[in-house]
Order: sequence, then C-alpha cells, then structure tokens
Amino acid sequence: MRLVLLGAPGSGKGTQADILKAELGVPHISTGDLLRAAVKAGTPLGLQAKAVMDAGQLVSDDIVLAMLEERISQPDAKSGFILDGYPRNLAQCKALETLLERIGQPLDVAVKLDVPSELIVERIAGRAAKEGRKDDTPETVRERLRVYAEQTEPVAAHFAEEGLLKVVDGVGELADITRRVLAALPRGGDANRLRA
Ligand code: AMP
Repeated sequence: MRLVLLGAPGSGKGTQADILKAELGVPHISTGDLLRAAVKAGTPLGLQAKAVMDAGQLVSDDIVLAMLEERISQPDAKSGFILDGYPRNLAQCKALETLLERIGQPLDVAVKLDVPSELIVERIAGRAAKEGRKDDTPETVRERLRVYAEQTEPVAAHFAEEGLLKVVDGVGELADITRRVLAALPRGGDANRLRA
C-alpha cells in the first residue's frame, strides 16, 4: 500500500500513521521527522533547515526531495509506505509523481484527515505542552496553518482531480479514525487482506 496522508498541522497524521504502519506492514515516512532528526544530529542540512522550521515555513523543495528519495529507496519501503508531511505544495506533488513513476511504484491513495481549525489549535496547544516542539508556539502555528491553506490545500485538490483523494473525518476516538482511514483504502489493498 502506497499511501499519502494529508491534513493540516495537528490533524493527527503522525499519530494515525504510527498506528496504520502496523496495520499495513509498511513504514511511516514523515519528512518532518526526517528534518527534525537532521536538526538534532546537527548535520549541515539540519542547520540550514532549522530556522525555516522554527518560523513555520517550508524547507526548500530540493532538500526535502533529496531526503525523501534517500528514505524511500531503503529496502523496507519496497512493500509500500505511509507518507506524512509530503507533498506540501504542487511542485513537491509533481516531484513525488515523477519519483514514484521512475521506481515503478505509483501512489494507491491520498487520505485527507479533516479536522475543524478550532480543534486544530486546541490539539497543537496540547502537543506543545507534551512534546515541547519549537514550532508549536501560537504564532508559528498560525503561520503553519496559513502555509497549509495556501500551499498544501491545492495538493488535495490535485489528488481529487486524479481520483486518488479520500476525505476522512479526523474527529473522534483514535481507533474510530483509524477504522475510517482503513475503510477508505482501495479494495483489495493490504489493509483489507490483513483485516479479513
Ligand atoms: P511536520 O512535522 O510535518 O509538521 O513538519 C514540521 C516542519 O518541517 C514544517 O513546518 C516545515 O518547516 C518542515 N517540513 C516538513 N515536511 C516538509 C516538506 N514536505 N516540505 C517542506 N518543509 C517541510
């Protein structure tokens, strides 16, 4: 199963991807996690990305694509993947399609977690208290939501045009949301086989 998870910051993509990876037997690939690991390790790329991330803006397409390519070419992604946080804009969307075409692994589905913005702000405040992410401050969250609406919403529209988009209600109990995502996956996919 090759799945893209879409949704605003704080919509629960990371949490759901962590649950879904066990259900689907494919790795969870988060470009945010890859970038945070690079920042933590103090790599040149991490140093470059840090200020941009702290400001709630998007790291350059080239840097993120290089990281993604490297990760997706690892053996565990041969069986598929759950992509979380990528693509973030239309250029990344095109780059992803080109990459997947080149490796002969087209996308099966894009699932968007739909969560009203009042709830998003509440959830991120909760996460800030728990995880202490530097980009979870109210000001940065506002900027991340603005960037999402401006740059990432068009990605959902693109996947809808391609007939790949499923919109799932992202409000409620974690397990219920997981069930909704699994039900939205294409029939005959790994999820249906695993849950049969
Ligand atoms: P996330 O964990 O997905 O919310 O990402 C945290 C931050 O990492 C974002 O606000 C961006 O600064 C950066 N980031 C993550 N994924 C991407 C991406 N695909 N393109 C550009 N920047 C990204």
